[in-house]
Amino acid sequence: MKTVVLAGRLRHVEASPTLALAAKAKALAKAGKPVLDFTAGEPDVPTPEPIKQAGIAAITANRTKYTPVAGTPELRAAVASTINRQLGTNYAASQALICCGAKHALFNIFQALCEPGDEVLLFSPYWVSYPPLVRLTGAKPVIVETRERDGFLPDPSVVRAAITDATKALVLNSPGNPTGAVIDEARLKAIAQIARERGLIVITDEIYDQLVYPPARHVSIVQVEPSLTDQTVLIGGVSKTYSMTGWRIGWALAPDAWIEAMTNVQSHSTSNPASISQDAALAALTGDQRPVADMRRAFEQRRNRLVEGLNRLPGVRCAPPDGAFYAWCNVKALGQPAAATAEQWLDEAMVVTVPGEGFGSSDYVRFSFATSLETIDAGLKRLDAWFRKRKT
Ligand code: PMP
Ligand code: GLU
Repeated sequence: MKTVVLAGRLRHVEASPTLALAAKAKALAKAGKPVLDFTAGEPDVPTPEPIKQAGIAAITANRTKYTPVAGTPELRAAVASTINRQLGTNYAASQALICCGAKHALFNIFQALCEPGDEVLLFSPYWVSYPPLVRLTGAKPVIVETRERDGFLPDPSVVRAAITDATKALVLNSPGNPTGAVIDEARLKAIAQIARERGLIVITDEIYDQLVYPPARHVSIVQVEPSLTDQTVLIGGVSKTYSMTGWRIGWALAPDAWIEAMTNVQSHSTSNPASISQDAALAALTGDQRPVADMRRAFEQRRNRLVEGLNRLPGVRCAPPDGAFYAWCNVKALGQPAAATAEQWLDEAMVVTVPGEGFGSSDYVRFSFATSLETIDAGLKRLDAWFRKRKT
């Protein structure tokens, strides 16, 4: 048999390190190891009861068949009206595409818009999946650095300098994974102006929009510059806000022609997202929002506990993130790449984190604080002991 050669565009596409490490932590725990897991980018609480009941009701009522490819009319309308209420936008239901998670929405939009020869601007540190999602289309990710001393916020003048004739789109992620940075109105305005002038498509990933800690406030580029809506794709979903990571429902809001193109891509790949999950997501968006506020308060408390503890460790530095549920922790002073530090923490302290390399930096380690206060306290204690042993 002829040797099978994988497609060239897969050469620089590896497994998602966040998912791989989360799986490793779970496997170790299952094998009885006393692991403390700080990998998971998912809330530790169950999906709220009324949302689960809506899923069960969908099954009981036999709502278990294909839905329209782009999602049920009810859910598309609910997504559009939720975002319109939150951001003061004016999206029609036809401009909302329901996908199998926000990651899938991103996959669809890159497939619909990008091709070889195109460049897409990404801010570093970036969420691990952005570069592979761009590469899978044959387009080129172009990395624009942000700096710790700027709070990892994009500098509009650096953005301008990175633009070439091939630049097609730029990706914003606020609140951001892995830094938790929340982009302010002034910067968004400046970026919007650049996008307008240069005709760039803005892909704004706002999956953590409900997880922002006061006094920080979530602002969307389509709020500060409504005229940019016709060249923006807004990505969101229920995974983080309602602790629904396994249900796989996310969305894109975009101009009709792009939604049509993405729907065509989706029609030849996954078809509609699971009908049961769509009913559950509808219940999430239209039901009682108290669980969201409760979760946000719990995360804020965990953030404070974790960040305080991390900053007490020698050579470790971590600013409190304004949003999402990650602490992006500077470990450069340990004098080795983050991957080596994370590996030692795993092997010697059974504390599992995600090293920064997959996010574009070997100076940082990411801790998820979507975990219990007990796990946070125990993890800090173990790391404290690890540092004491290391010194001697
Ligand atoms: N964007 C960012 C920044 C994320 O952290 C995640 C986490 N999974 C996603 C998108 C994808 O979310 P989903 O589970 O809805 O696919
Ligand atoms: N986004 C989450 C994380 O960064 C979940 C894993 C993934 O989809 O990458 O951990």
